[in-house]
Amino acid sequence: MGKRVNMQKDSTITIIGAGMAGTLQAVLLAQRGFRVSLFERNPDPRKGDAPAGRSVNLALGERGRFALDAAGLLEKVDTFSIPMRGRMLHSPEGEQRLQPYGKDDTEVIYSVHRARLNECLLDAADGLEELSIRFNHQLDRIDWDTNQAWFKCSEDSGEIAHGFKVLIGTDGAGSALRRSMQTQADLGVSEELLETGYKELSIPPGENGEPLLDPNALHVWPRGGFMLIGLANMDNSFTMTLFLDNHASDNNRGFDELENWPAQLDFMNEYFADAVPLIPDLEREFKQNPIGLLGTIRCKKWHMDSKALIIGDAAHAIVPFHGQGVNAAFEDCVALMECLQEIEPGGEINWKEVFSELQDRRIANANAIADMALENYEIMRESVRHEGFLLRKELEHELERRHPGHFIARYSLVMFHRIPYAEAYRRGEIQAGILDELLKGASSLDDVDFETAARLINHKLNTV
Ligand code: FAD
Repeated sequence: MGKRVNMQKDSTITIIGAGMAGTLQAVLLAQRGFRVSLFERNPDPRKGDAPAGRSVNLALGERGRFALDAAGLLEKVDTFSIPMRGRMLHSPEGEQRLQPYGKDDTEVIYSVHRARLNECLLDAADGLEELSIRFNHQLDRIDWDTNQAWFKCSEDSGEIAHGFKVLIGTDGAGSALRRSMQTQADLGVSEELLETGYKELSIPPGENGEPLLDPNALHVWPRGGFMLIGLANMDNSFTMTLFLDNHASDNNRGFDELENWPAQLDFMNEYFADAVPLIPDLEREFKQNPIGLLGTIRCKKWHMDSKALIIGDAAHAIVPFHGQGVNAAFEDCVALMECLQEIEPGGEINWKEVFSELQDRRIANANAIADMALENYEIMRESVRHEGFLLRKELEHELERRHPGHFIARYSLVMFHRIPYAEAYRRGEIQAGILDELLKGASSLDDVDFETAARLINHKLNTV
């Protein structure tokens, strides 16, 4: 993270939300000597009585891993990370076919248990004198004139006021801090709900504790308008997620058709016959597990003067189809530390300048990953089924091997590199044009003119 600089750290930073971004940000700040007060509405998840969070496991890529490394936590996280080398596509007939993610076996993403990752971050926070965490404290409202944040305390049903100088909101997509900031300033918030919802199901380990699917792949059952996916857990179980429109339409199925058990089973047997025998609690899970909402939140401003900043999902919630929400939130945390180091070294911290710099660096990138995540839904549920897509992937990887550092598939730029998302998007557009041109009339790599490829790549792409 570059050189350490002497900064004035006499005031406490108050962070709202001890989820992914909040806890990592608090750790990074405290490791560099800042005093941090972290507030979380839920009980301490390590005490076992916290409500279940969204999605049991997550995909982590290079951006998230880099941020964890910056906090000295990567080695620990690696003890519960499962590498996934590609998508295992399940056809309606039950055939499985691996589509590698990267150009070779070194390029993998990792399945990580969300709760364990959160616990690992909280354990790191516990070890830091400068950091205090208060669980069961839900931000309720803010008095911006007196700089007092009011919290509801679930333990004694009381309320406390906490005086702050600087607030950082990492309280997720429904951010109470964002809502309060909007009463003072126009943040230019747009919220776009996706018609698709999701339901989690699970595949337990086999009789002898063995995994019933290949654990080193992200399993996908792409069915055009909807899909089922599965990621492995450390105990050899799999967490499955069914993504389906909330309402059926002329050309798509919907959760509203699946309110009763025989209908649920019929649907699963029709589209995911090979998965059904592996999900013994299908009926109970369909009944008990809620249908989750998905959407995109964008903000044109992430901060209010020197007083408050929002990052992570609070500033840019995205749909989960690129597996980048946590990665992007962690990248915000690293970016904030970089801004702090670069701005006014040695002097008093001008928080307005720091926040404004962070916003400038991150907004275009947050918008780019939001767009790419939406595009990836179409890719995962539909495009991956077509031979044309497979040929395109094959060509991308071949071009990467022939032109290292120049041509890198957009998926790889997002998952295995840290170049800004907006730049990945821009390069991706140029590369898509090159692929279109090379694949005109081609039905295999033998039909591709690699001399033209070299000319186009040299002409249109510089090094990453
Ligand atoms: P959160 O993790 O939501 O944390 C917010 C915290 O704030 C919580 O602890 C909450 O309790 C607390 N809080 C909320 N309100 C208050 C309040 N008023 N007062 C105090 N505390 C409060 N991302 C990936 O990178 N890879 C994936 O594979 C992936 N898969 C996903 C699958 C699904 C189905 C979904 C829904 C999301 C997925 N994501 C994934 C996205 C990821 O979960 C989010 O982007 C990430 O959790 C955002 O982190 P955050 O810290 O900003 O917010």
